[in-house]
Amino acid sequence: CGQCAAVCPFGAITEVSDLDKVKAAIKDPDKIVMFQTAPAVRVGLGEAFGMEPGAFVQGKMVGALRALGADYVFDTDFGADMTIMEEAMELLHRLQSEEIPIPQFTSCCPAWVEFLETFYPDLIPHLSSTKSPISIMSAAMKTWFVKNNNLDPKKVVIVDVAPCTAKKAEIRRPELNASADFWNIPELRDTDISITTRELAQWIQEEGLDFTGIADSDFDKVFGESTGGGRIFGNSGGVMEAAIRTAYYFFTGRKAPDDFIPFEPVRGLDGVKKASVVFGHFVIHVAAISGLGNARKFLDELIAAEDFENYSFIEVMACPGGCIGGGGQPKVKLPQVKKVQQARMDSLYQSDVDATYKASWENPEIQDLYKQFLGEPLSERAEMMLHTYFTDRSDDLGEMKNLTPETNPSST
Ligand code: SF4
Repeated sequence: CGQCAAVCPFGAITEVSDLDKVKAAIKDPDKIVMFQTAPAVRVGLGEAFGMEPGAFVQGKMVGALRALGADYVFDTDFGADMTIMEEAMELLHRLQSEEIPIPQFTSCCPAWVEFLETFYPDLIPHLSSTKSPISIMSAAMKTWFVKNNNLDPKKVVIVDVAPCTAKKAEIRRPELNASADFWNIPELRDTDISITTRELAQWIQEEGLDFTGIADSDFDKVFGESTGGGRIFGNSGGVMEAAIRTAYYFFTGRKAPDDFIPFEPVRGLDGVKKASVVFGHFVIHVAAISGLGNARKFLDELIAAEDFENYSFIEVMACPGGCIGGGGQPKVKLPQVKKVQQARMDSLYQSDVDATYKASWENPEIQDLYKQFLGEPLSERAEMMLHTYFTDRSDDLGEMKNLTPETNPSST
C-alpha cells in the first residue's frame, strides 16, 4: 500500500530514483546546487561502505557531497532547531488557549501526516502547523540565505538527503512554496529534489569515490550550527525530548534542568513511550509513538476512552524507531534490524552529548535568524514562512471511508 511504500525499511517496494535530476543540476553551470542532510543520514550512510552500524560519518558525508559538486552543504539539524522553536511556542499557545485543541501532534513525518489526513481527518486541528525540518530549512535557504547572498532564486536548486522515501511526496505538496510567495515567482518550489541515504551511497559508488578515505568537511554557515536537540530528531522520542528542552524555557524563562537531559522516558525502541513533564505550574502528559500500527491503536484507544485531553503533546513517527529506521536508509537483514537501529540511535544520542548547546533556543545561529529575519516564534513572518496547513484526504479511501473499525479489515 502507499503508506508501506513510503516507509518500508526493508526495500521490498521499488522506489523512484531522483539521482539523474541531481546530476543534471550539478552539470548545469547556471545552477547553484545546495544540499541539506537530515539527522539520521549521517548514522546510516557508512553502512553502505562496510562501516559499523551507527558509524557517525557527518564529516565524510559533507566531504563526499563537496566532491560530487555541491555548491553548498547545510545541516538539516539546523532546520530541526527551527521546527522546535515554532513547535514549542505553538504548544505553549495551545495550553493557554481555549480555542486551539490539545494534544498537539508532531507533523514532521510526512507518512504520519498523510495517514492522519486520510484515516483521522477530524484530528487535523491537532497537527502542529510547523513545517518539517527539511521543509522549514528549504524555505529559509531559498529566501533569507539567497537574499543575503545576492543569489538568483531561479538558479538555486535545493536537494535534501533524507533517510525517508516519503519526503519525495512531501516536497511536492503545493503549499510548501514560501519562496514562490516571497520572490513572487510562482514556479519556484522550496525543495526541488529529495534523495535518500541509499541514493547518495549509490551516487558515491558510481563516481568511484573512496568514501572511507574522504577527508572530513564542515557544513557551510549560516545553517551549520546545531544543538543536541536538533541532532536527536532522527530518533523516535527525539522530537519530543528536543521540544521539552525548549518548551521548558518558553514556559519558565529558565534553562531546562539537568534531569531533562537525557529525558529517558521517551528514549529507546519501544513503539509507545509515555511520560509526565512538570513545566513550572503545568504538568503535561506526553507520548512518543513509532510505527503507524501503534499510532492507530493508540489513537483508537484514546478516542474510545474519551481520554484525549489528558495528553498535551504526542510525537508520531511512521517508521519503527523513528527516522533512523527510515525506508531510505541502507537495507538491513531482518534479524539485525533492532541491533542496527539501536546502534544508529546511540550514535545520534552521542552527538547530543558532544554538542555545545543542548536546546534549540540556545543556538546562536537560530538567535541571529530570528533577530535579523523572523522576529519572534509565531510572528507574522514566521507564520508565513515556517507554517503550513493540512487537507482532509479521506475521500481517497473511496467506499472504505464509511467502514467502522469493526468492519474495516485493514484496521488493526
Ligand atoms: Fe520518513 Fe522519518 Fe517518517 Fe520514516 S519516520 S516516514 S523516515 S519522516
